[in-house]
Amino acid sequence: MPLRPPMMRHLKSPDLFGPIDRLPALGLSTGERTFEVINPSTGEVLAELPDMGVEETRAATDKAYVAQPGWAALTARERSDALWRWHQLIIEHADDLAAILTAEMGKPLFEAKSEVSHAAAYLQWYAEEANRIYGETIPAPSRDRRMLVIKQPIGVVGTITPWNFPASMVARKISPALAAGCTIVLKPADQTPLVAGAMFALAHQAGFPEGVVNLIYSSKADAVGRELCANPKVRKISFTGSTEVGRLLMRQCSDQIKKVSLELGGNAPFIVFDDADLDAAVDGAIQAKFRNAGQTCVSANRLYVQSQVHDEFVQKFVERVRQLSVGDGFAPGVDIGPLIDKDAVAKIESHIADAVAKGGTIRCGAERIDKRGTFFEPTVLTGISSVMAVAREETFGPLAPIIRFDDADQVVRDANDTIYGLAAYFYASDLKRVWRVAEALEYGMVGINTGRMSSEAAPFGGIKQSGIGREGSRHGLEDYLEMKYLCIGGI
Ligand code: NAP
Repeated sequence: MPLRPPMMRHLKSPDLFGPIDRLPALGLSTGERTFEVINPSTGEVLAELPDMGVEETRAATDKAYVAQPGWAALTARERSDALWRWHQLIIEHADDLAAILTAEMGKPLFEAKSEVSHAAAYLQWYAEEANRIYGETIPAPSRDRRMLVIKQPIGVVGTITPWNFPASMVARKISPALAAGCTIVLKPADQTPLVAGAMFALAHQAGFPEGVVNLIYSSKADAVGRELCANPKVRKISFTGSTEVGRLLMRQCSDQIKKVSLELGGNAPFIVFDDADLDAAVDGAIQAKFRNAGQTCVSANRLYVQSQVHDEFVQKFVERVRQLSVGDGFAPGVDIGPLIDKDAVAKIESHIADAVAKGGTIRCGAERIDKRGTFFEPTVLTGISSVMAVAREETFGPLAPIIRFDDADQVVRDANDTIYGLAAYFYASDLKRVWRVAEALEYGMVGINTGRMSSEAAPFGGIKQSGIGREGSRHGLEDYLEMKYLCIGGI
């Protein structure tokens, strides 16, 4: 029995796990090797899963390869119906999915519920978009020809997802791929594979044909990744995770000129100009910084506040940060859960130590809460400058470094002075400034007077070393389609 009691006690319908218990029902073989999934809040073992490797990845790819032409040959409506059924099952089991997510990842239950509904929204969106894969006709330059473009699925897609949004990242990749007529092999992060497993169990119940969706549980990400990149039956890799691993996968895909979609790291600036509504900016900064304990690719990583409003902003912001409650994600009233692991705590501590050594001031927090666990106090630093690691690297934790600025043009140059280009935020009211700054920021996404912008209806993704491609919206579907030009002569 792979699921342990600490996991089972959170579930309303443990039967949800039926197919996970019987992995062959999902079309996967199980070896003798296993790995454990641990609750980061308690250290309890939640489950023991089969540790798959190259052989299982190859077998899953073969299944996906065989299934793909049949899946693509269904009508758009039939593919859409299957996605709708999956969506319905996710809504029906939302509470259990959220509980699994909180148990394996640590985020507060209210955030886990919101993530599950976000995941369901992607399925809904792409169930609808499946019916709108249009081609194009082109007025031909000669009378005896007809010219047109059709869109076709890329083929088998290898997908790798991270631990910080283990449900919505799965949905955001799989649903457009399936809508387009692709089949998939997915490897979730080894720290958070259970919610992906539960979602696949529901996909199985939704009646996707054999081989259309395939799941690989593995603690050997590098071997699975290499196999997906090297296997010629896999026509595309869709990855969300760090820029470092994204670079490696892109390199591994280069031999076969394999297509890649990469959703990578960020270093989001959050700028508060002197004409901003300060209370709204404080609200937005709390959301953009402390959601998911700051372990979000679009987290505000460095806050720039203009001199005239700096002190007032800091005072209001610190007051709010002190009220945030840290604890087990299942406890009522908790705003911030644990960090995913000890490395994450070490990174925050090193950023704080570096900033303080270079003249930064701790305004609140900066301590571990439980010396054995990974709970960390939400922290605010002021007196930050661009030479500090905290301003240059993604912290990925509940640490808000504040940089004072005077010159509105210089702050945009500073905000752009990074290899990353995922998300940026700013608060201002002057219309001219709003347009100019929005256009000048070199980022794939800009939140203006808001600290939260992800939506299934919008194209999510970065520029520079934050990635290639977009997820969500009609653009997300294009990432899984090939364009074919047809020229009919002799008419
Ligand atoms: P990560 O270390 O890159 O891991 C992400 C995924 O890649 C996991 O499934 C991991 O497996 C796998 N992986 C690790 N090494 C691999 C390799 N050599 N070959 C193939 N796969 C490999 O990133 P993370 O620390 O989990 O996630 C945090 C990062 O993701 C942050 O930088 C964040 O900004 C970024 N992120 C970006 C977005 C976006 O949409 N742009 C969204 C969320 C997160 P294991 O976990 O099993 O090792």
